[in-house]
Amino acid sequence: MGLLSERFVIDTIPVEVRRNNRRRTRIGMVFDPSGYVIMDAPMDTSEAEIRSIVSEHYRWLRYRLTKVQEAYERFPALHYENGEIVHYLGAAFVLCVKSGPKKSIVCDESRNDQLPLFSYLPRGELRLTLAATDSGSIRDALNGWFRERAQAVFAERLERWVSLPWLDNGLPAWSHSFMRSQWGSCSTNGKISLNTHLIKTPIELIDYVLLHELCHLKHHNHGKRFYSLMSFHMPDWESRRKHLNRYLPVLVQD
Ligand SMILES: [Zn+2]
Repeated sequence: MGLLSERFVIDTIPVEVRRNNRRRTRIGMVFDPSGYVIMDAPMDTSEAEIRSIVSEHYRWLRYRLTKVQEAYERFPALHYENGEIVHYLGAAFVLCVKSGPKKSIVCDESRNDQLPLFSYLPRGELRLTLAATDSGSIRDALNGWFRERAQAVFAERLERWVSLPWLDNGLPAWSHSFMRSQWGSCSTNGKISLNTHLIKTPIELIDYVLLHELCHLKHHNHGKRFYSLMSFHMPDWESRRKHLNRYLPVLVQD
């Protein structure tokens, strides 16, 4: 049996065509949870035929695609098992776990890097190799990786604000931890606490939280002057805040 698989994007619909010489007559079509429409087609099906089938079913395919998108944006509770979807910097990744003596965690973005348009489709795989692959071990390894990435990414993004005029003594002391109720906070003595879960959200939302907390070093309240300072340095902060609200469910992923 020969099997040839090809991926297309037809009118914003991602399609994977599997040409199969066992199938001789009709074309089968299923909506895969990955967000691709999988078409089983006879070997000699032309691309024009595939395109015409997609446009014939366009509204149905579009509807199903929206449902998949909504499912990914719902951020279901994690069970820490192979095949689950996890989020990193706003993109979805398939968790691929295997057992092996040498622990390693690799974030491979190559799978869908040609499809940046469909950010809710898994962008790639987060591959964990662990000695023990029970859910507790996966959870510990994954959260350890998120902690490391948060440390590196938050440090790098904070550095970009170092020239804010009220930061006379450079960047403030900061730390991060997994928290359930807030994205960040700024203590009266000027220490910034960030939520490690932020690493699951897009970089522009991380920047929004960082700037919010840094602005509290100048104004320790949410008064008019605080918000005009935010607007001066980040004119679109309100739309970022709205976008961040969609990520609230990640706060209870523990
Ligand atoms: Zn605040």
